[in-house]
Amino acid sequence: MTDFIFHLAQPFIAIHGSGQRFPVRRVWCVGRNYAAHARELGNDERDPPFFFSKQPDMLVPGGGTVRYPSLTANYHFEVELVVALKAGGENISVTDAAGLVFGHAVGLDMTRRDLQKQMQEKGRPWEIGKSFEQSAPIGPLTPASGPLPPARIRLSVNGEVKQDSDTGQMTWNEAEIIARLSRQVTLAAGDVIFTGTPEGVGPVQRGDRLDAEIAGLEPLSVTIA
Ligand code: MN
Repeated sequence: MTDFIFHLAQPFIAIHGSGQRFPVRRVWCVGRNYAAHARELGNDERDPPFFFSKQPDMLVPGGGTVRYPSLTANYHFEVELVVALKAGGENISVTDAAGLVFGHAVGLDMTRRDLQKQMQEKGRPWEIGKSFEQSAPIGPLTPASGPLPPARIRLSVNGEVKQDSDTGQMTWNEAEIIARLSRQVTLAAGDVIFTGTPEGVGPVQRGDRLDAEIAGLEPLSVTIA
């Protein structure tokens, strides 16, 4: 069939050890999921996490060079574990959620922190702070049979470690996140979820190199142009 009036590229993530690629349907992010990070931004660590989204074509598969974005003077990194789904549903139980996991990747939830804070203060949506061109660099997916066991998660800028934690420190684990999000929207194969960042977030400048890693997964490197 050739009924579409033009062609749109399918956003994707590479799959480690495979020539195949993972097609991306939706990109979700958890707002706060590590107590120490909630505290460093002045939030109540007991608040339940919440979700926002980025557009699939804002992913930067494989990292590489990322342009410093417009409108901001406080451009932040947030290293995160990303879980990719091979199936979905709605009102999924925590038990069933574990079986929906296709695999995991290291991701960066790049943020215009100044604009995010302005919007927070005005009670407006976060989009301008979170959802912009090249705002979601992501490494290759490593297939898995379920949630990733607790693993060290680290980010360095120009070789200096800025974030160093463990995914076991997440307030809500992968299965709980999937179950919770499936109450809000219908999940499906191709959905990916950035599961929140640990403490230590900070700004980057043009020319900086970011190295992100989670034990057991493929690393991700980004240079700010
Ligand atoms: Mn984040």
